[in-house]
Amino acid sequence: MERNAIVWFRRDLRLSDLPTLLAAADAAERSLALFVLDDALLAPSGAVRRTFLFRCLRALDAELGGRLMVVRGEPDKIVPALAAEIDAQTVHVSADFGPYGARRDAAVAEALGSTALVATGSPYAVTPGRIRKRDGTPYRVFTPFRKAWIEHGWRAPARTDAATVTWLDPSGLSSRLPVPPDDDQSAAALPPAGESAALSRWHEFRDSDLRSYRDERDRPDIDSTSHMSVYLKYGCVHPRTLLHDLRGDGDDATFRSELAWREFYADVLHHHPETARRNYDRRFDAIDYTPWPEANEPFTAWKSGCTGFPIVDAGMRQLLAEGWMHNRVRMITASFLTKDLHIPWRWGARHFMRHLADGDLASNQHGWQWTAGTGTDAAPYFRVFNPTTQGQKFDPHGDYVRRWVPELRGISGKAVHTLPGGPPSGYPKPIVDHQHERRVALEHYAAITNRGGSNTRSS
Ligand SMILES: Cc1cc2nc3c(=O)[nH]c(=O)nc-3n(C[C@H](O)[C@H](O)[C@H](O)COP(=O)(O)OP(=O)(O)OC[C@H]3O[C@@H](n4cnc5c(N)ncnc54)[C@H](O)[C@@H]3O)c2cc1C
Repeated sequence: MERNAIVWFRRDLRLSDLPTLLAAADAAERSLALFVLDDALLAPSGAVRRTFLFRCLRALDAELGGRLMVVRGEPDKIVPALAAEIDAQTVHVSADFGPYGARRDAAVAEALGSTALVATGSPYAVTPGRIRKRDGTPYRVFTPFRKAWIEHGWRAPARTDAATVTWLDPSGLSSRLPVPPDDDQSAAALPPAGESAALSRWHEFRDSDLRSYRDERDRPDIDSTSHMSVYLKYGCVHPRTLLHDLRGDGDDATFRSELAWREFYADVLHHHPETARRNYDRRFDAIDYTPWPEANEPFTAWKSGCTGFPIVDAGMRQLLAEGWMHNRVRMITASFLTKDLHIPWRWGARHFMRHLADGDLASNQHGWQWTAGTGTDAAPYFRVFNPTTQGQKFDPHGDYVRRWVPELRGISGKAVHTLPGGPPSGYPKPIVDHQHERRVALEHYAAITNRGGSNTRSS
């Protein structure tokens, strides 16, 4: 009798450089390619991410010659039921290290009983939890983590493609669903989805903008970063594939370092899953925030890009229009919310997670905590971004602001950041006085540090 297996795709929607396929091919003659529409993940995803995911699934199904089995349900019920139906001896996955994914996989493994859940690889170059200090504890500061991560190294890309596995035809299986259509509410202009789009974007970037990455990566007006985050989020490409193409120095080293941030935050979240919701540095649990409902109006102005601070408004509007925002502007808008409007980082993180196509729990929550000053290796609390000088420095000709804020298109050059003649009609006055709010933020933070609490994780 032929041995069957299931390859359960999750955050690895590709066929190249996918070690899971090698494991499945070793274990069984035929495999069912499975994706589970899991409402626990889909409901909080937001329309933009659901749409991008469904497009990725359509691309994967096409690569598999229409043999992707899509089902809807709770994984710990539906995966064992399918395994029983096709008499699969093994279910193959790449390991998930997110808080929900880890719990889900434990439940599925238990429900599968004698059918083994086999995890091979992960969405990271180095599996979260593997890089540790000499004393065995996890790193809490990025730079030494990156050094140890580079020293540890990673495997070469796995040589896999659609033909690595003989795929079972799922057409006779009754629970099979079509891939859902795009979510109606998603209005964002998204990049093309799927593995071949990811690889062509990577090759385009690698052969052009990567050469000026170190100097230009902070410039939202030039927009010369890779835009790989959304593809990494869904595993349309593995970071190993990107790392394999990099040389050791210069722009390549800077780009590798950015990939290391993604790995660092996944590692931190793996060790401290509670930091998806709570401050990593618990001293900041006591900080004063603008109370509700007073915070409602400024929060709404921030979300809609109507704060009267041009670079902040440009970023928030880019987020809604593209499901993406430049990293420098993510930092500026996050700093503005937490330190100028004194609104908890979680509110902003939730808004980002609703609208970012690349929304990733580890990178988002810890990107927010870094900016808010409550996280690992955080920007020190006294570093409050000045939205005007940040705009002048990183959008020196004002092109980024004019691209996203049409009300300001009549203002030329970098005056668009200062609006010397006052805001033009239709554009709001600044909703706060930055210098004043900066002092308030510093007082809030000083009150915390004067209480003498120590960082609960500093040991
Ligand atoms: C408040 C805030 C929220 C963020 N939320 C997310 C998120 O939900 N998902 C996400 O992927 N990134 C997030 N980031 C990190 C970063 O902004 C994006 O990864 C980057 O802008 C994506 O664009 P890119 O692919 O062109 O980046 P590039 O500059 O081309 O970088 C290459 C890759 O390196 C990784 N990377 C770069 N910077 C960071 C970083 N600071 N932290 C973690 N990984 C990084 C990403 O995988 C990125 O695709 C956030 C940053 C901040 C400050």
